[in-house]
Amino acid sequence: MTNKMIPFSPPRIDQKIIDEVVDTLKSGWITTGPKTKLFEKKLSEYTGCKATLCLNSATAGLELMLRWFGVEEGDEVIVPAYTYSATANVIIHCGAKPVFVDVLDDFNIDPKKVRAAITSKTKVIMPVDFGGLPCNYEQLNNLVREASIKDQFTPKNEVQKTLGRIMILSDAAHSIGGKYQGKNVGSLTDVSVISFHAVKNLTTAEGGCVNLNFPEPFDNEEIYKYLCVKSLHGQNKDALAKTIPGNWRYDIVEAGYKWNMTDIMAAIGLVELARYESETLPVRKAIVDQYNNAFKKYSWAELPVITDENRVSSYHLYALRIKNVTEQMRDEIMSLIFPKGVSVNVHFIPVPIMSFYTQMGYDIHNYPNTYYHYSREISLPIFYNLNDEDLHTVINAVVSSVEEVLNKYGLVNQENIKDLIA
Ligand SMILES: *Cc1c(COP(=O)(O)O)cnc(C)c1O
Repeated sequence: MTNKMIPFSPPRIDQKIIDEVVDTLKSGWITTGPKTKLFEKKLSEYTGCKATLCLNSATAGLELMLRWFGVEEGDEVIVPAYTYSATANVIIHCGAKPVFVDVLDDFNIDPKKVRAAITSKTKVIMPVDFGGLPCNYEQLNNLVREASIKDQFTPKNEVQKTLGRIMILSDAAHSIGGKYQGKNVGSLTDVSVISFHAVKNLTTAEGGCVNLNFPEPFDNEEIYKYLCVKSLHGQNKDALAKTIPGNWRYDIVEAGYKWNMTDIMAAIGLVELARYESETLPVRKAIVDQYNNAFKKYSWAELPVITDENRVSSYHLYALRIKNVTEQMRDEIMSLIFPKGVSVNVHFIPVPIMSFYTQMGYDIHNYPNTYYHYSREISLPIFYNLNDEDLHTVINAVVSSVEEVLNKYGLVNQENIKDLIA
């Protein structure tokens, strides 16, 4: 047992971040203001989307877009079973029904399963770029534009009529900087939501943004302006606008939400974004490459998909899978890793396993590939200040723990494992 614990994903808080936050604190403007607006502009430039709205979380962004589209009781929203619960919870908030579908071997939503799940009640598809690897957006974008799929779509309001089809709301919580067919995440589909939560690639402590990318005839600038109001009480003037002398009177045009980003958060984000391509992504890539090089020689290791002919990951997670193990064996491996001074995690416990969702009648047996990958998955530490020595400690802890458990049980046939949950 070591005293020092290698953390899983601590934020990179250095003097630059501290200076920018102090600058904000001293500026006299700490809520939504000039730094948030600048961060939004820089995010639009970086992602290539048409407009960006910063908020206090990605979860708020997902719910905001469902509500903007008018998703309500009686509607269905398609989501992968393999995601963090936030993706599904926001659908429940709106009174709609999450329709879970299974994932592919890269952990991302299976477009074939999406097609099979579409009904006349389907309003939105929420793909999740698991671990930072973009989904197959070409297939998803084409699917919702197919004539027979469009014919089923039954619009209930003006926005839905204007789009004339299912909306794709990408949960890009992990994937800022990820690329698909040479384009950056944020510009790959109708709308994408990025998270700046403390453990994410690019943090603002808490925070998130919506990258608007709706096709004609939508005016994304106009949608942005409306969403500013909707995410701030439904108030037609924000605090900054009210500082113009004499400009004190405001109106409440709807019962809006309180989801705005503060300039203190944006200060962190501006520093993080400025060094994201030059420092953050290369360091994360180097860590992933070192893990891959270390694990590829072990027959029990199934390496995560990081890149293929269409895609490049943002290297958010290193999701290692162990071949031929049950969920219980995976848990045993993890319990051997922690005492060696290494923090590991599982991404994710699938949503249909959660008690709230089982009580609603969802059943993980309906998503066998989700369970199959979840039950063998262990996420390893990736963060900016992970040094070579710690990286080797992680690798040695994983290898020795896996081998200890595999030796204890002997090899189990992969198909038998699938049978265990059948
Ligand atoms: C982190 C995360 C979210 C939520 O992001 P917040 O900014 O914490 O609201 C949503 N979806 C996925 C897949 C996530 O990992």
